[in-house]
Amino acid sequence: MSAPEPGTVYLVGSGPGDPDLLTVKATRLLESADVVLHDKLPGPEIIDQLPEDRREDVGKRAGGERTPQSAINERLVELAREGKSVVRLKGGDSFVFGRGGEEAEYLADHEVPFEVVPAVTSAIAAPAVAGIPVTHRDHASSVSFVTGHEDPTKDESAVNWDALAATGGTIVVLMGVGRLPDYTQALREAGMNPETPVALIERGTWPGQKVATGTLESIVDVRDEHDISPPAVTVIGDVAGTREGVLEFLANETNEANEATKEREEEI
Ligand code: SAH
Repeated sequence: MSAPEPGTVYLVGSGPGDPDLLTVKATRLLESADVVLHDKLPGPEIIDQLPEDRREDVGKRAGGERTPQSAINERLVELAREGKSVVRLKGGDSFVFGRGGEEAEYLADHEVPFEVVPAVTSAIAAPAVAGIPVTHRDHASSVSFVTGHEDPTKDESAVNWDALAATGGTIVVLMGVGRLPDYTQALREAGMNPETPVALIERGTWPGQKVATGTLESIVDVRDEHDISPPAVTVIGDVAGTREGVLEFLANETNEANEATKEREEEI
């Protein structure tokens, strides 16, 4: 007997975490897939909706270490070769710091058909729900999405912080909580105004969303005071300063929840 026709792998972005921000297509595929491979980044609300018997958590292995990308790639091919329809669900958009490109290449190399299902990236959505537009006619005519995961002081930094400082546009840093001191210093040394507004948005659209704001100079202290931890995005640029003017009327639900938490904390 010959092997079955391989199933299709769907590289699906979940959006930032609010189930209402899943695309219609993502929702449909999550309902129809034989198996969903996911990690923690789609957030608790979306993950809790996935049927137990059709999902595999490939984020962490027992013992807390991360499943290597090679093992995930192999699992995708294995399942597809069993004829299954497979959803690879990633937080935000799969092709924005999501390794979707590597998975697509691996699937193509192994002759497995795949479909890309784009989504709302946290790089835009997390600032947005906090009231921050990543571009603005008066403040920023360009935006750069960069990783904060690497050491900006090392010789061969993949991110050119000097060049970014010179654009005058908005900089959105993903995976940038831990190295915040390093790249804010790199930007100041590159001549960026220390008073430049900066915002940190943790768990954008998740139930525990937190927003904290400061300047290029103060933001490290702000991070520590508010105990900001990953996943969070850092927004650097004048657009981050526009939030204050709209906050009173910003009706995003998680924002209200945030305010409520703040009031409770003040009461204690
Ligand atoms: N593909 C994802 C990014 C993956 S890299 C996307 O398009 O959103 C992981 C980083 O994404 C985190 O370190 C954090 O910087 C950011 N991130 C993902 N979801 C987030 C959320 N809900 N709120 C804030 N940051 C988030």
